[in-house]
Amino acid sequence: MSDFAIGRWVRPEIRAMSAYHVADPGDLLKMDMMENPYTWNGALREAWSERLRAIDVNRYPDPQARALKQRLGEAFAIPPEAGILLGNGSDELIQMILMTVARPGRVVLSVDPGFVMYRLIATFTGMDYVGVPLRADDFSLDTEALLDAIERHDPAVVFLAYPNNPTGNLFPAEAIRRVLDAASGLVVVDEAYAPFTDASFLPELMAHPRLLVMRTVSKMGLAGLRLGYLAGAPEWIAELDKTRLPFNINSLTQVSADFALEHKAELDRQTEAIRAQRDELFTRLQALDGLRLYPSEANFILARTAPGRADAVHHGLREHGILIKNLHGAHPMLADCLRITVGTPDENQALLAALGELISDGVLADDR
Ligand SMILES: *Cc1c(COP(=O)(O)O)cnc(C)c1O
Repeated sequence: MSDFAIGRWVRPEIRAMSAYHVADPGDLLKMDMMENPYTWNGALREAWSERLRAIDVNRYPDPQARALKQRLGEAFAIPPEAGILLGNGSDELIQMILMTVARPGRVVLSVDPGFVMYRLIATFTGMDYVGVPLRADDFSLDTEALLDAIERHDPAVVFLAYPNNPTGNLFPAEAIRRVLDAASGLVVVDEAYAPFTDASFLPELMAHPRLLVMRTVSKMGLAGLRLGYLAGAPEWIAELDKTRLPFNINSLTQVSADFALEHKAELDRQTEAIRAQRDELFTRLQALDGLRLYPSEANFILARTAPGRADAVHHGLREHGILIKNLHGAHPMLADCLRITVGTPDENQALLAALGELISDGVLADDR
């Protein structure tokens, strides 16, 4: 055995994993990570810098981030009776939730294909992950299969992304209400894509004692700040808060997010534009030969190429300077699938032009 003694000490389930991989974008047009493509204008940057200048970084941040929580509550109409927990991205909230309930043999349940962090963090915390397959033809929710699995496994936590990533669709609200009735554990409705849909469980939050609504500011245009928020019964939030590392939301993030939400109208204009662009891009992609599209309520579109073409399309777009997400190989049900984040009108145009060239080169389909 080598001096590192890796094999002796690293847990086998961690040994078996590979680190979360993010593609290096270089100079490529980033249409891979569901970021808001719009940047801030000069005046906004100036005003923001002024706020940052006033921070004393020799001091620890407000451990409770009180000003920011209040701002979030108002900006997103969180019911005043709800408790709020903040995370360094919603990924950290998932970690806190699972650390609170983790025990060997306990189950985390979600749908497949779904958001990969549920499975990864279940593994980190020594829990068992159960993924209930979506329907293969359209990624719709098989509600009966989900309810059967809940009865069989009695999960400590059910995660449902609403809308789902990477499929983009919204599961029926009625199905989620049935899950809330059936589950004995927590039900986390992950609304990371809330800015791009009208649907939300926030108004129903206080009607279900084990419902948690999780959101992030990442997709609305603040991905660099790393801030997620979780709302739910104060009784549950108080327990989850015990696993939070002190000062997890740093001063720069607290001040920057507070500032950004003061200017939320600007972010709302951006997300509105992205919504309109999504529908436009969907229509124009649909007019192309060789792609099957899945309707999306998020800021991305899932597309399926002819069998065996996704790698070549992904690569071809890279050659044209555009980075999208290749999901081929990520899950058997995602064979030949690509995920495109909606960009600015110019970016979407560049994508469509590049796809047009790939079509004339015969990369998407043979018959030309
Ligand atoms: C992007 C995403 C998140 C993670 O958001 P962060 O706040 O950036 O960690 C959570 N859930 C879903 C479904 C996502 O797509």
